[in-house]
Amino acid sequence: MSTSNSSQYASRFHQGQGFYSFSLGNLTVTSVSDGFLVFDDPQAALAPKADSQEFDTILRKKFLSSDTAYTHINTLLIEGNGKKVLIDNGCGDSLGPSAGLLVKHLANAGVKASEIDIVLVSHAHPDHIFGTITRTGEHVFPNAHYMISKEEWDFWTDPNIKISSPFGDEMARAAILGAQRHLKAIEDRVSFFDSEQEIMPGIRAIRAFGHTPGMMAFIITSNRKRLIYTADALHHFVVTLARPDWELGVDNDPVEAIVTRMRLLEKITSVEAPLVHVPHFPFPGIGHIREEHAGYVWEPVVWEW
Ligand SMILES: [Zn+2]
Repeated sequence: MSTSNSSQYASRFHQGQGFYSFSLGNLTVTSVSDGFLVFDDPQAALAPKADSQEFDTILRKKFLSSDTAYTHINTLLIEGNGKKVLIDNGCGDSLGPSAGLLVKHLANAGVKASEIDIVLVSHAHPDHIFGTITRTGEHVFPNAHYMISKEEWDFWTDPNIKISSPFGDEMARAAILGAQRHLKAIEDRVSFFDSEQEIMPGIRAIRAFGHTPGMMAFIITSNRKRLIYTADALHHFVVTLARPDWELGVDNDPVEAIVTRMRLLEKITSVEAPLVHVPHFPFPGIGHIREEHAGYVWEPVVWEW
């Protein structure tokens, strides 16, 4: 076995605890983990109306249990054109010690929170925007400008907002109060963008309404290489792909979310087959999706140090 080629890589490890880095054209892209959460009743979150036996069978075929579901929280750091852009900022200190690890994992990747120029927010759920300020109100990313869709901003800041949650009324209330608190904190440092608009060079938003009323996915392009950040249009790496037509308990409008999911999956499985980053798929949440039978299958990237 020859090891002669390995010397060129020896001084350049791209991965470490909680981060996974690679090149996309001229950009450096890093999946940064915020940690994980566990759903105690996965079916209520992922497929409340589905036949339980089919739900179990789909998971069992992949040697997974239907008793609990392990949910990763992956954010995405994009470095290039002199900017550091973070897509979503995790859940901060809102969801217990297994999550809220983003700043620590960014530091492992050699990036300080103060170096983040822009936080691009896909939607205002706790695990995507509650990393904005600490319990005492200090900004976690003190120099960051924030960007979010106007539809998402208007929905959460409406004083008459109502949502339901598969995790109960208390969680729904905490989600609303938390979103309002974090959005209020950025009102003097936020701007809005539209779908299909180039937000900054190489980053375009795709309308992905349904999971929340103003959620956006993103297409990142550099030198003809493409990556799609799906936001929560996809949720579980096995169930949501095997049965993308199933309504999810975590979706605000499950029917609209299915239309969004199908449209996005069509784009992802086009001839071009872009790389995909999914916040809740197993870390680093980067890979490809291909069609199989009536559904889809996740093909994660092969880990490279
Ligand atoms: Zn989420």
